[in-house]
Order: sequence, then C-alpha cells, then structure tokens
Amino acid sequence: MTRSRSAIRLPVASLALAVLCVPFVAKAQSDPGAAAPRERTVLRAAHLVEPRTGKRIDNAVIVVDSGRIVSVTSGGAVPAGATLIDLGNTTVLPGLIDVHTHLSGESHDYYTDLFRHSAIDDAVRAHVYAKRTLEAGFTTVRDVGAPELIDVALRNAINEGVVEGPRMLVATLALSATGGHGDLNGFSPYVHVQRMSNIADGVDEVRKAVRVNVKYGADWIKVLASAGVLSEEESVGAPQYSQEELNAIVAEATTWGRKVAAHAHGAEAIKRATRAGVASIEHGGLVDEEGVRLMKEHGTYLVPDIYTDAYILEHGKEIGLPDKMIEKERQLRKAQNVNWRRAIAAGVKMAFGTDAGVYPHGTNAKQFKHLLELGLTPLQTIQMATSNAADLLGWSDKVGTLVPGAWADLIAVSGDPLTDVTVLERPAFVMKGGRVYRGAAAADSGGAR
Ligand SMILES: [Zn+2]
Repeated sequence: MTRSRSAIRLPVASLALAVLCVPFVAKAQSDPGAAAPRERTVLRAAHLVEPRTGKRIDNAVIVVDSGRIVSVTSGGAVPAGATLIDLGNTTVLPGLIDVHTHLSGESHDYYTDLFRHSAIDDAVRAHVYAKRTLEAGFTTVRDVGAPELIDVALRNAINEGVVEGPRMLVATLALSATGGHGDLNGFSPYVHVQRMSNIADGVDEVRKAVRVNVKYGADWIKVLASAGVLSEEESVGAPQYSQEELNAIVAEATTWGRKVAAHAHGAEAIKRATRAGVASIEHGGLVDEEGVRLMKEHGTYLVPDIYTDAYILEHGKEIGLPDKMIEKERQLRKAQNVNWRRAIAAGVKMAFGTDAGVYPHGTNAKQFKHLLELGLTPLQTIQMATSNAADLLGWSDKVGTLVPGAWADLIAVSGDPLTDVTVLERPAFVMKGGRVYRGAAAADSGGAR
C-alpha cells in the first residue's frame, strides 16, 4: 500500500538524538523459534501436503521438538512420553507466508488514517493485526514498509514472546523520490506532517537511506520504483527512480547483506528495478514483454497482489479512497491479468503477497481463489505462499516446508486444499515454532498461550 503518510525528513540532528536516547536494538535475522516449547509433540492428521513436491501423505505423523520438525512419516508410531495432538480428518500444510504485508496499519478511512491518526495510534493497534494474521495461518510475513519503525518494534516484541504474531522480516521506511509514491503529494506546500521518512534523491542520498534503514533494524530494503494507486500522483506506473539510483540502492543493500523489494507498477520502472537486481517486483501489473524476459533472466520474483486490487474496486468508497485512486485501480485492472498471465507463461517466479492492511488483516488467504483467475493450479498458488515465498526470503530450509529441521510452523485445514483453495481461509489449527496458536488441541499441547 505504502500510503504516503510520511512526509517530512526528520532533521539529521533529531535522528542523532533519537539514537542516543533510544536503544532501538535491531534484532534482524535472530532465530524467532527461540521461545519454542522444549517437550516433544506429535501431531497426527488424515493427510499432509508437502508443497515443494506436491506430494500428499496419508495418516501423517509429524514429530516436533524444540520448535522444529523432527520427522514426517505415514502411519509412524507415536513415541512414548510425547504429547499427542490429534488433528483428525484434516490436511496439514506448512504455515503460510505473505511476502507483502503492512502490519502497522489498516485502511478504514483514507484521510482519517492519513491525518487524524498518529503513529502512536498505528503502534497500539499493530499487535492486534499481527495476532489476526498468525491465527489466519500466516506464520511468516515480509512486512514491506511501516511508519516510525513500528515494524521493527513489532518484530522484536514477537521474537521476544511479548506479543503474538507471525515471524516478521521488515523493511522499515520505504525509499521514495521527492514527490514520489512515498512522499505526501497532492497538498499545499504548507502541509507538513512530522514523521520519519526516507525521501531520498540521487545516488548519495539513496545509499544513505539504505544505511539508515539497516541501522534501525531493516531485514529488507523496500524501494518505491514507480508511482502507485494509493497516493495522489496522476500516473499509476511512471518511473520515479533513475537506473543509476536503483543500481546504487541494490549495490548498497547488497553490501549490508540485504535484498531489495521494488514497488513497481509501470513497465519502465519494472525493467529498471530488474536490471538493478532487486529480488522481487511488487505489483508488476503493467509489465511488458521485455520486462518479462528480463525478470526471467534475472530470476526476479513477481508478487501479484490480485486480492487487494479486487478489494479496492469493491470497497474503495467505503474506505474513503478519493475517486482518482479508484480510477487508477480500474485502469490497472484492465491490463494486469493479461500481463501477469504472460509472466506466468514465461516461467517468471511467483510469490504470494497481498498488500495486507489495504484490506482487513487476517483475510490474506482470500487471495488464493483470485490467483486461480490467472490460470494457476491450486498447488501452484500454495507453492507461492510456501516454498516459493521461502525461497524469496532466503529461508528455504526454515519455513514453507515440512522437512526435518524446518521450524515447526504448520496449519491444518478441513477439506482438500489441492481441489478447493478456499479451505485455506479457515484453518482449524495453527502452530508456529512448536506452539499452538489456534485449534481445539491447543489446551492439550501445553503450548497454548
Ligand atoms: Zn504495499
């Protein structure tokens, strides 16, 4: 979404002061499974699907210890002394992953959200959204842009077990050009909102902006490479960073061991970001043939947030979006399914990201049925939200799979997700790091909190 709420550069002096006063310790890449229960738990379910292979196992027995998966077998024995969780006639899958969320906010009324709420309002609500997301079966998210480093605070609080939520990889303040999608535009030059932001122009400034984000705890770097829907620019797809600037952003991020996600609707912005070496193109609805070829060549992931688009068209008025924005969405909608289909046909890698926060948190799984409109199979949509997403995050051995050694993040659904993806909208059971967060069995496992 990247609502352009942040506007004014905080003077460097106050940033420096903030550093001195607030020990805002970044805990990037710490093992979020650390608080896992130590006892051995065994889960039994009628079926299990391993998305990597698409294989289904019947009479699945999953052994979990210290927050990790020990073994997955068909009809295996339950070890003595283990706590048994019987999931009955359900299908177990790895916990789902959404690679494009904004847990720090939720659209209720555009101008109220923008001007009547402060970052403190956002911060006190964010943990509610995080819990909702986890209980909906999304055990990992990549959160791609938040005001005031709320994402860092939320991630750290979840990792420390203070609040409940998914594992979070966070991008902090999205980099935006002056007047770009992350800047406050469409208002009088005298309208100022005092918020942290990362408006940066030119090679030197964008490099510094990356460093600032890393300094305060960013796991990822998010750049707004093109215009967007939920801001008052005229265009939805115009490029907003030069090739030189995008190259510098990716080079600087790489130096610090971070990957880059680029918000890009327009064809030219997609190509520039892809050439620069970003890991994923967010939205990507106006990608052209050359862009598809470049993405395929560079192994760049596409994150088509098809559910948000449908939501904006259906509910845009209710959430107070100016007509201009709804019209931009309408224009986008005309072209993007065709373009996304072209990318899929060419074999561009696809990951599941929804722009959660534009629509109510916790309904992320509604995107699965919309993805079928692009000609994907149910298994392919599940792979987007598990094995593919994990690959994009660099966490293939940890999440999105049920192989031994992976974190014990899993869900159980009633019905067959390989024939009806809507069953993913109602998980009966959710476990993260060996702890139960949803399901009747929670009380039995000793893991409920
Ligand atoms: Zn977004």
